[in-house]
Amino acid sequence: MTGFSGSRAVACWRRRLLQVALVVLGGLAWPAQAAVTVVASFSILADLVRAVGGDAVTVTSLVEAGQDGHVFQPRPSDLTRLRDADLVVINGLGFEGWLTRLIQSAGYRGPLVVASRGVTPLGESGAEAAAPVAHGHAHDETHTADAAGTPDPHAWQDPTRVLLYIDNITAGLAGIDPANAAVYHQRAAHYKAELQALDAELRQQLAAPAGTARAVVTPHAAMAYFAQRYGIEFIAAQGASTASEPGGRELAELIRRIRGLSSVALFTESQGVPAILRQVARETGLPVSGRLYSDTLSPPDGPASTYLDMMRYNAHQVQQALQTKVTPR
Ligand code: ZN
Repeated sequence: MTGFSGSRAVACWRRRLLQVALVVLGGLAWPAQAAVTVVASFSILADLVRAVGGDAVTVTSLVEAGQDGHVFQPRPSDLTRLRDADLVVINGLGFEGWLTRLIQSAGYRGPLVVASRGVTPLGESGAEAAAPVAHGHAHDETHTADAAGTPDPHAWQDPTRVLLYIDNITAGLAGIDPANAAVYHQRAAHYKAELQALDAELRQQLAAPAGTARAVVTPHAAMAYFAQRYGIEFIAAQGASTASEPGGRELAELIRRIRGLSSVALFTESQGVPAILRQVARETGLPVSGRLYSDTLSPPDGPASTYLDMMRYNAHQVQQALQTKVTPR
């Protein structure tokens, strides 16, 4: 009869030996294996972490490309991933309402980087305060009746605000992996130059011809930061209502607004076209011009598989669609 403590001691030794063997093997067989494991909350952040971390980090995303980051259904493997992470990176500004409980369940006690720390947020109703259809997330249960005072989380849609994201991510990585701090800072400086170049390019590309009243209609209110930075009005079709469909009055108001514009484009954000957008298209005679990536990257083989590609893709789509003058009827 082996006592409980005895078998535990043996098991403990076995584990210890296994660990040592794995470390030795790991060092021999996979010398390039990244030492630092980072879990980001969604695909856009994961790409930013990759931009700073390079080969020194392994980054995965909880919400995968193509999924809705406002909500998340964790699998058991996500808990393991979180528990074993060296660093967790989130957007903040209330975007990941599901995260606190998940971190507790996983038992993760490591550092948490809030990438948007220090960013000046827009109010969720601030960007288009006068418009009854402009705020709120139809698909986000946490944004119910009164969204006033709630920050708009989609700050990544402004590359100049993402400069701060990069600083926060860099500080986080350097903090847990000081040996590579110089490398992280160097990569960050390079990427920030790319962000500045992107911003200059988009400003030029999206500059408004004088005297045009132009707007882009999307399903959810994700583009206020982009709108502010590049001077294009965005109208969220599903904005005002927390139900899945806005009422007749909101729809009528939306149609009325669209008819007052000289240049307007409709875009969807996911694979399909929501009923409300189809209805607006029918009523105004405007086509749905395509898809914008707001809260997620595309899969690797898609047109927006990195943050920089996503921003360029969206800008190009918007510019093309607004150039084709389609007057709403
Ligand atoms: Zn969103």
